[in-house]
Amino acid sequence: MSKVPITIAYGDGIGPEIMKATLDILQAAQAPIETEVIEIGEGVYLRGHSSGIEDSAWESLRRTKVFLKSPITTPQGGGYKSLNVTVRKTLGLYSNVRPVQSYEPFVTTKHKAIDLVIVRENEEDLYAGIEYQQTEEVTMALKLISKPGTERIVRYALEFAQRGGRKKVTCISKDNIMKITDGLFHRMFDEIGQEYPNIHKEHMIVDIGAARLAEMPERFDVILAPNLYGDILSDIAAEVAGSVGLAGSANVGDDVAMFEAVHGSAPDIAGKNLANPSGLLQGAILMLVHIGQPEVAALVKNAWLKTLEDGLHTSDIFDERVSQRKVGTAEFAQAVIERL
Ligand code: NAD
Repeated sequence: MSKVPITIAYGDGIGPEIMKATLDILQAAQAPIETEVIEIGEGVYLRGHSSGIEDSAWESLRRTKVFLKSPITTPQGGGYKSLNVTVRKTLGLYSNVRPVQSYEPFVTTKHKAIDLVIVRENEEDLYAGIEYQQTEEVTMALKLISKPGTERIVRYALEFAQRGGRKKVTCISKDNIMKITDGLFHRMFDEIGQEYPNIHKEHMIVDIGAARLAEMPERFDVILAPNLYGDILSDIAAEVAGSVGLAGSANVGDDVAMFEAVHGSAPDIAGKNLANPSGLLQGAILMLVHIGQPEVAALVKNAWLKTLEDGLHTSDIFDERVSQRKVGTAEFAQAVIERL
């Protein structure tokens, strides 16, 4: 079988550890992929590339059109621009799809029946990164919500729901306050939603939406949100399902797709063999489906589920009531491999 070329980046923080774990599992599962490694992030900036990505890396991404990416650190409150945002915008990855499930009784959560997908607009909103110092006293940021961008993500979410046999789409906005920008998002959802009579549609203001997601995540099916709210809501959802370390995401455009974990580079546990590699592995499973390898995806997913079921848990999900043994990143990967 010919191998599918994919571009990978090890990132930083826990990135290299979870990427190694994920690739070891994919290799043991005989996933028909051929990896091209690119370097992104701080080292590249230090070599003088303001985008944090060299031309050869863009060339690889545009050629393979599939990117498996570990998290990278973005300096807070100053320094260079988020590379994640640059990649998403440059490659036109307009949709960020984040499935979240609970794995009760094997992973402890108060919520037994979570099975939701967050579809987040991925290029616009406050993440457009247009902010400036107005005066010494005043700073400003532009919240960009366009009609074409909104129409595209609304259709994506409704199509996703329809094709996936899902029943309900909840649109999240704050259009009681941001009447024009979030108002457009909500209005487009109402308008385009009429073309999908079989899908139940509802709208929630983001504050009560976040509260309900934390308290009653089971009531959600597909959640559609602008960029910033979607980012926040997906961490809430992953955490209430057990850990931010469990969820992966697909960043999808018309041409290229990028797969990653929902969490960041976790510098507090980097290099300690403590990180849960499951989020990136979930991203890799979505990638396998995307490249037409659903059988390998199912093989990996089942081995991963069996590992959770057998109680081999990294410290973020370890709970002595249900876990059998606390394992590090590498041992967790080995346990998945043994269950393939
Ligand atoms: P984080 O998600 O990295 O970590 C938050 C907490 O969750 C930490 O306590 C961490 O130890 C824990 N955690 C995260 N992933 C884990 C895993 N796999 N296993 C076990 N525990 C895990 O969030 P942060 O600390 O706010 O961000 C750190 C850096 O990551 C920042 O520079 C941020 O910009 C960046 N970031 C990158 C991405 C990305 O590359 N897509 C996404 C989010 C944040």
